[in-house]
Amino acid sequence: MKGYLGFFMLVAALTAYMWRDTFDPESVRGARVLITGASSGIGEQMAYHYAKFGAQIVITARRVNALKTVVQKCEKLGAQKVMYVPGDMSDPADPERVFKYAVENLGGLDFLVLNHVGNMNIELWNGDADHVRSLMQVNFVSFVQMAAAAFPVLETSGGSIIVVSSLAGKLASPFVAPYTSTKFAMNGFFGALQNELAIKKSNVSVSILILGLIDTEAAMNKIKGFNTMTAYPASEAALSIIKAGATRQKEAYYPWFHYFTCLINNIFPFGKDILLSSLSAENKE
Ligand code: NAP
Repeated sequence: MKGYLGFFMLVAALTAYMWRDTFDPESVRGARVLITGASSGIGEQMAYHYAKFGAQIVITARRVNALKTVVQKCEKLGAQKVMYVPGDMSDPADPERVFKYAVENLGGLDFLVLNHVGNMNIELWNGDADHVRSLMQVNFVSFVQMAAAAFPVLETSGGSIIVVSSLAGKLASPFVAPYTSTKFAMNGFFGALQNELAIKKSNVSVSILILGLIDTEAAMNKIKGFNTMTAYPASEAALSIIKAGATRQKEAYYPWFHYFTCLINNIFPFGKDILLSSLSAENKE
C-alpha cells in the first residue's frame, strides 16, 4: 500500500513539475504573430492577449468587418503593430497568399497560430462525402499549406507553429465525424512533423493544443439542446495556447485534466462510452 502511495505521489510531483508555468510575457513582446480564424472565438481572444503582451500581429478570417473590430481593440490593448488580411481557407490559393502578406508586412514571422475551423453541425453522419472533403481543405489541408510556406521563414527566426486541435482529435467522437477526422489528421501530421524536426535537430517548434469544450458563441450555439460537458472560458483557453507556444511545449491540454481523459481512454478504451453517453441522441432535449 505504502509503495502505491509513494508511486502516485511521485507521479503527481513529476506532473506538477512538468506543468509548472514557465511563461515569460517578455518572450512575446515584439514577436511577429500570424493568427488564423481571429475574427471571433478563441482566435479573437488570442489576438487580445498577444496585443496586451505588445506583439506585432496579423489576423485573418473571412469577415472583414469583424476583423476590423478586432484590429481596433488590439490597438487599444497595446499591440505594437496590428493588421488584418481577409482570406478564405476553402480556397487553395489563400493560405499562401495570407502567409505572404503577413511575412511581408511584419518583416518575418515568429509564431504561426493555426486556429481557424470550418462550419459543421452536430449530427449523425449523413453520408455527405463532399462535406468531409471540403472540411478537410479548411481544417487540415490549409494548415499544411501554411506550415509548408512557413518553414523556411521560421527556420530563420527560430520560430514556432501553434496548432489548435481538439479532444475530438484524440477520441473518435460521434455526431461530429467529419470534424473529428480533420482533427485526427491534424494531430497525425503535426505529430509526425514534431518527430521529423527532432531528427533534423531543427530550431522550429510545433505545439499541438488539445482543447475540451470552450464557451465560444459558435460552440455554444452548436451544442444547444445537448446535455454535455462544462464549457471553459475562451479567454483562458487562448492564454493557455499562447503560453504553450511560447514555452515550446509539444502537446498541451486545456483544461489540463483532459490529459488524463486521453490517458484513461488509452488504458481503458471502454471507459469512453461513459464520457460519450453525455452526447447521446437520447439526451437531446
Ligand atoms: P469559431 O468561434 O467558430 O471561430 C472560427 C474562426 O475561423 C472564425 O474566425 C472564422 O471567421 C474562421 N473561419 C471559418 N471558416 C473559415 C474559412 N473558410 N476561411 C478562413 N477562416 C475561417 O471557433 P472557435 O470555437 O473559436 O474554435 C477555434 C479553434 O479551437 C478551432 O480550431 C476549433 O476546432 C478549436 N476547438 C474549439 C473548441 C470549442 O469548444 N470552441 C473545442 C475544441 C477545439 P470567419 O467566419 O470570419 O471566416
